[in-house]
Amino acid sequence: MLLQMKYSHIGRVCLGISAAFLMNASVAQQQDAKSALTSLNDSAEIKKLMDAIKSDHDRTIQELRTITEIEAPPFKEQKRAEHVLNRFKEVGLTDAAIDSAGNVVGIRKGSGSGPTLVVSAHLDTVFPEGTDVKVKEQDGKLLAPGIGDDTRGLAVVISWIKALNEQKIKTVGDIMFVANVGEEGLGNLKGMKALFKEHKNIDGMVGLEPGVGDKVLTQGTGSHRYEVSFSGPGGHSFGAFGKVPSAIHAMGRAIAHIGDVQVPTDPKTTFTVGTVGGGTSVNTIAGDAKMAVDIRSNDTKSLLEAERNIMAAIDKGVDEENKRWKSEAKITSEAKLIGDRPAGTTPKDSAIVKAALESIALAGGKGETRAGSTDANVPMSLSIPAIILGSGGKSGGSHSLKEWYDPTDAWKGSQVAFTTVLSLVGVEGVSKPLLEKAAK
Ligand SMILES: [Zn+2]
Repeated sequence: MLLQMKYSHIGRVCLGISAAFLMNASVAQQQDAKSALTSLNDSAEIKKLMDAIKSDHDRTIQELRTITEIEAPPFKEQKRAEHVLNRFKEVGLTDAAIDSAGNVVGIRKGSGSGPTLVVSAHLDTVFPEGTDVKVKEQDGKLLAPGIGDDTRGLAVVISWIKALNEQKIKTVGDIMFVANVGEEGLGNLKGMKALFKEHKNIDGMVGLEPGVGDKVLTQGTGSHRYEVSFSGPGGHSFGAFGKVPSAIHAMGRAIAHIGDVQVPTDPKTTFTVGTVGGGTSVNTIAGDAKMAVDIRSNDTKSLLEAERNIMAAIDKGVDEENKRWKSEAKITSEAKLIGDRPAGTTPKDSAIVKAALESIALAGGKGETRAGSTDANVPMSLSIPAIILGSGGKSGGSHSLKEWYDPTDAWKGSQVAFTTVLSLVGVEGVSKPLLEKAAK
């Protein structure tokens, strides 16, 4: 299983390099982000659309409260998905449906010749079933688990579909609106993995996550997590001494070698043995031991190299323990992948990043890029241009029961992200798509 996985990763790296080349070559031919954003900003039609987003603020916040109170624990997003599906349909995305992975997907067609852009927010929260998700108010802030991450994103996506349809905006490219499953924790991005496997015609992705709207996520931190078990016959600490190797001693040797693994600081690559366990009693030569290893990087190649070195360190530790006792009984180890998030980067000179930075600048923001582990990791790992933008409004305490959201002027962030999306797909009679139609 491990070997197979490694091969598939190598395949992905090669694919990534060739596709990145194509993308860079095409950047030069693309319409300048600044002129497209200026055209959109000056257009009376788009001004009206952005006014509609602002005047829809109170309703959007009401929608946020409603969806927040529908639980969406990891792997149990269905109830919320059904609600969002109904809302997609009610605001005019009549063909929307829930796909085999559980994602809500609806396409708003453009005029036919443009790119296909995914616009997404995730359905799932980190909170288990039974968590109190009732929204409370305190000093103008809304408090509830999951309210910012990522329920705000869902409410914004719905408000965009509503405004596009009410204002009868005709985009050039297609927008695939997605409310996806499996973003958090052990969901391992399964919603996005399924979406990009099923739809080979996606040219770009803009995801929404908490944030006032002044940052662009361009780097997807990938991670591989392993549970490594060591096993052997075990035996009496006195009676079997010298006759059997120890699973715990083998793991200790392995950990010492893991500790010596070298990783680059740029792209940032990290590893740790996070938990250990095993053994039967103090007077038993351990027959079993287990540890969990976390490996992360902003770059797939570095992630895989660190992984290879860690696997070699484990083999070395086991080997040394077996050689130490020269016994017939041996320790064996097995590494099971329990977490898999691919890494990737969207180049800062790509049209999608330029469009976002320009849109932020037009709204008076500074615009910074950042790294993180999100749904965008999946398209990034496939060299499909992808970014994450803020959904608008201040928030904090995400992944905690004290999560809060401040809706003050939240429409501003929504407008910035929406303008970016429109510049990427283009608007009939206003601007050409900045996003290149690359997928087949
Ligand atoms: Zn999130």
